[in-house]
Amino acid sequence: MKNIIFIIFLSISGVSLGFAQEQSEEPRKITIIHAGTLMAVAGEDTLSEQSIIVEDGKIIDVTASYVSEIDDADVTIVDLSDKFVMAGLMDMHVHLAMSRGPGKNAADAALAGVSNAYKTLMVGFTTVRDLGATDDTIFKLRKAINDGDVIGPRVLSAGSIIGVGGRSNGKECNGVESCRKTTRDMITGGADWIKIYSSCSGGQLCSNKDGAAMFFDDEIKAITDVAKKYDVKVAAHSHPTASAHQVLGYGVSSIEHGSFIDEAAMDIMIRDGVYYVPTVAVMDLLETVLEEGDRPAEMLAHDQSFYDNNPPNIFKAYQRGVKIATGTDAGVVPHGKNYREVERFVELGMTNADALKAGTINSADLIDKSDELGTIEVGKIADIIAVSGNPLTEIKDIENIVFVMKDGRVYKD
Ligand SMILES: [Zn+2]
Repeated sequence: MKNIIFIIFLSISGVSLGFAQEQSEEPRKITIIHAGTLMAVAGEDTLSEQSIIVEDGKIIDVTASYVSEIDDADVTIVDLSDKFVMAGLMDMHVHLAMSRGPGKNAADAALAGVSNAYKTLMVGFTTVRDLGATDDTIFKLRKAINDGDVIGPRVLSAGSIIGVGGRSNGKECNGVESCRKTTRDMITGGADWIKIYSSCSGGQLCSNKDGAAMFFDDEIKAITDVAKKYDVKVAAHSHPTASAHQVLGYGVSSIEHGSFIDEAAMDIMIRDGVYYVPTVAVMDLLETVLEEGDRPAEMLAHDQSFYDNNPPNIFKAYQRGVKIATGTDAGVVPHGKNYREVERFVELGMTNADALKAGTINSADLIDKSDELGTIEVGKIADIIAVSGNPLTEIKDIENIVFVMKDGRVYKD
């Protein structure tokens, strides 16, 4: 008999768990992480001196006390006994491969994408949702990362943004047939999500509180109908109050920015389980712009209203019970500083634990991957990071990433 089936019992918190293992000639390759402080699930109590046992990219056990050997296995120990260990962070709003400006094209976007992907993973963000790239660059980058040719986070991608077309307003959706065609093209081209530009960009005056929604109702309906047909979710860029109400009426799954969402919109989001990705890290950019004052007075007043209104409004949504996930809008703000969203959450009043929850559990839930990502539990994908210090007591410690594992492979140690 070539293969022998045998059973190994490992003790998890006093309970015995058995699993079958088919043994071939090669010994099993197992990585055991010794975690000094383990936040297995953000929002729950941390545990000390735990062993996380990883095999074939998955967490196969978490045990109290440090385990150093497993029978018939080739074991690698990662000593994080003086570190804070948690699930990989997730950024639900990035633009890894988006090039804008004179003379820039898809080649620039692709090159930048490779570097941006690396920076993102090195700061502990093991999964991102990319909400708008130049042409097909993000689909190719996603493949290169999956194939192991480029180092970067796991990417879910919306491809290009769908908007009313023209200038910088996204891929053409102008009239029902055009919106259907563009949405279908994006999904058949490889989009995991659809991203729509349902209001002006934050850099335009028409994105203010009373700005108009960009699409006609039949256009939004055409997009969301196609998305539903292919079982793909829709993320809506929205600043003005009216555009949020319009897209919520057609069943989008996340509101991006949501700068001027009112309480009525918040209540619809709570009722329908719609996520809010407020991209509050953009306040870093606004701070600089306002300090420099190098813009027309009308534009500065517009920026000031965003700066004054958004953080308290996000806090209001949080207190009211809207589900919030982290998203920096990296691409508009720098890549590799994705931790700023978590830090900004705490600055606006969120507890450290809830900010870390937004960057792990909530983000995994937003992309329907709660069974695979967001916590350190048996059966989950081994996306594990470690920091020096303790971000539950000092949120800035989230910047001190000393270890990154994605899919069971170590990228930073
Ligand atoms: Zn964006």
